[in-house]
Amino acid sequence: MTTRYYIFYDSGLPNVGWFQACIGCDQVTSKLSLYKKTTLKTGEEAEIYSYLCISCKNNLQDVVFLKNYENACNEYIKDRLSQTLRLHETFV
Ligand SMILES: [Zn+2]
Repeated sequence: MTTRYYIFYDSGLPNVGWFQACIGCDQVTSKLSLYKKTTLKTGEEAEIYSYLCISCKNNLQDVVFLKNYENACNEYIKDRLSQTLRLHETFV
């Protein structure tokens, strides 16, 4: 079984919506980009998606943007998802 987790800029939109703020630029988007796939200690597969608008997705080729994007995703995972995922060793 695979569980999906989502990363987005905290804009106050309802957490259950199809639209969230892009992690790169905080514009509202429905576009998702697979950030990481991993296996939890429970053996469960996890896929972590980020909300990323089309222009930010294109910007991933830019080294500086990519670095900032990865930092933002890792911060989010550390702050918001690590307890849920029980992934401390894997991610931090
Ligand atoms: Zn964006």
